[in-house]
Amino acid sequence: MIEGKAIITISTRVTDYCRRRFSIAHELGHLEIHRHGSGLVLCTETDIDNWCPPGEDTTVEQEANAFAAALLLPEQFFATLCQQGDPSLDLIAELADQFQVSLTATALRYVRFSREPCAIVYSHEGYIKWFRASRDFEDLGLFVNVRSPLHPSSFASFVAKKDLTRATPERVEASAWLAPGQYRSDATVKEQSWAMPGYNAVITLLWADDVEGDDWW
Ligand SMILES: [Zn+2]
Repeated sequence: MIEGKAIITISTRVTDYCRRRFSIAHELGHLEIHRHGSGLVLCTETDIDNWCPPGEDTTVEQEANAFAAALLLPEQFFATLCQQGDPSLDLIAELADQFQVSLTATALRYVRFSREPCAIVYSHEGYIKWFRASRDFEDLGLFVNVRSPLHPSSFASFVAKKDLTRATPERVEASAWLAPGQYRSDATVKEQSWAMPGYNAVITLLWADDVEGDDWW
């Protein structure tokens, strides 16, 4: 929300250190990108939690979040760290600690720089809200079933029921996550899902390391 004069106001409910840092960077994004707006930057946590990836209906909040992520996770230092080791939420959590940024913000930035076919998926109250994929994932023509309920075969549906916050990766059938497309009928993906109980949400990393082959749909 933007209105009034140029004053930065951070929600008093934002007490977590990482969130406060991100909120400040987010407001700086408004000042930098939306300087021709009416001025006062007064964003709620809901505004800042609008992580839905940019698209045709990109909002000023998403633009400010993208600015904040680029500021706090600078490509110069962050990109090469995303290209070491296998994709996992454990690796993303390590990077989040290192850069003092939330897991979700770090995960979104991670898939931007990863050279593996992977995607980050955010589910809320049992429904897939959005996903963002790496370039290699998109190049395989893969899409996640957004706006669908979590598939019973997905590990995320189990994690959500049990509120598991640090589960290990599991291999699941690709069709539990991916819209019908160009992958083998017996394709599998590696899935790591962690519950985010405070948000009634689950964050999932998908690694499509076993989808290619001769048996195309
Ligand atoms: Zn904002």
